[in-house]
Amino acid sequence: MSDILNSPAPQQKLQRVRGTRDLMPQDNLIYRHIEETAWSMAQRFGYQEIDTPIFEFTEVFHRTLGETSDVIHKETYTFVDRGGDSLTLRPEGTAGIARAFISEGLAQSIPLKFYYSGSMFRYERPQKGRFREFHQLGVECLGLETPLADVDSILLGWQMLQNLGLAEKCTLEINTLGDSESRLKFREALVAYFSKYENDLSNDSKMRLEKNPLRILDSKDPGDRKLVVEAPQLQAFLNDNSRAFFAQVQDGLDRMKIPIKLNAQLVRGLDYYCHTVFEFVTSELGAQGTVLAGGRYDGLIEMMGGPRTPGIGWAAGVERLSDLLDLSRLPKPLTKLIVIPADPSGESRALTLCTELRKMNYCVEVLWTGQVGKRMKKANSLGATHVFLLGETEVLADSVTCKNMISGAQKLLKLADLYRMTTFDLV
Ligand code: ATP
Ligand code: MG
Repeated sequence: MSDILNSPAPQQKLQRVRGTRDLMPQDNLIYRHIEETAWSMAQRFGYQEIDTPIFEFTEVFHRTLGETSDVIHKETYTFVDRGGDSLTLRPEGTAGIARAFISEGLAQSIPLKFYYSGSMFRYERPQKGRFREFHQLGVECLGLETPLADVDSILLGWQMLQNLGLAEKCTLEINTLGDSESRLKFREALVAYFSKYENDLSNDSKMRLEKNPLRILDSKDPGDRKLVVEAPQLQAFLNDNSRAFFAQVQDGLDRMKIPIKLNAQLVRGLDYYCHTVFEFVTSELGAQGTVLAGGRYDGLIEMMGGPRTPGIGWAAGVERLSDLLDLSRLPKPLTKLIVIPADPSGESRALTLCTELRKMNYCVEVLWTGQVGKRMKKANSLGATHVFLLGETEVLADSVTCKNMISGAQKLLKLADLYRMTTFDLV
């Protein structure tokens, strides 16, 4: 404890933790727009919002993400709390939702469709589009085995991107990992292939070779990447069931007119995927080009100790969506009105006037102090379309002077008349 108190030194200026951000008002306007667009689309698909805790027992993530995944291996924020429990800040949303599905006993209620959004935490090297605290919004559909559920989930992602004006900037890359039988055969072939080059593999991939060779295909190490190019491809090992499933997904996407790019290298970073995996990628964000990623995870809930329940879902990175967004698409802010009371009698009426104007859905603020001329200038710089002046003359006449800041026109309005309006129009 004393270590914590001693560092940083008291005179040292406090800093943000590396890889975290303060979301300033402009950032929040963008985030809110993205989340509202996503949530509004998710609702139309029958999704319901769920919030799971930001931290879980470490085991929840170890069991689901797999010990050899990058996330578990080197990216989690894990700590022992004061009660001696090992806890982990969530690095992604699916594990917590799967845990909730089991601990809340939701198996009777399938199919279930959940939408979520919130902060995720990964100890990564911070760079553009990559943070240690970042935001995801995502969806999980639990209990549907049909490939059309995969199409529906991808369609939701696609329509959300369309509504954000981002669909044109993104390409849907898609692949299949097949069922467990296919993956087992593929796995054997991979082990045989990579074992030949074991000495050339990165240390991480040497470890993956034993525990999860599929993960090597996802390696970002340049040496590994060279070997991956020549590696056996899963397609050759897919059984009929897996092929038929993937064909139906592609067929469904085709019917919904969603253009796809097959990417046989796409495996996704986490252990629990099977069959369909997909990513919406853009070339406009440099190295961090994946904006939305997901797949099918039929074995996940069972692996965590629940009843066998198929699942399909995706998560989008809000920071990356936000970097892509054309800001002219943000909803217009409320029209701004300023009230300037010129003296104590005006002050006594100011808040009632504000309240009435706010009922008409305006953003209304009072500038309480300073010379009236300076306050008018301030109102102008705040972008007010109208200023309401309240002084003794106005109060005695139960009125207010309304000045149009664009035309300069000025008018004395009876308060009673103003309060009867549902909106006002003064040009
Ligand atoms: P990457 O390959 O970029 O590391 P990932 O496969 O680890 O991505 P997922 O776990 O699939 O990513 O997360 C889904 C989405 O969340 C990503 O496509 C991305 O948009 C976003 N994301 C993931 N990690 C970060 C991060 N550290 N900072 C910002 N956004 C992130
Ligand atoms: Mg990652």
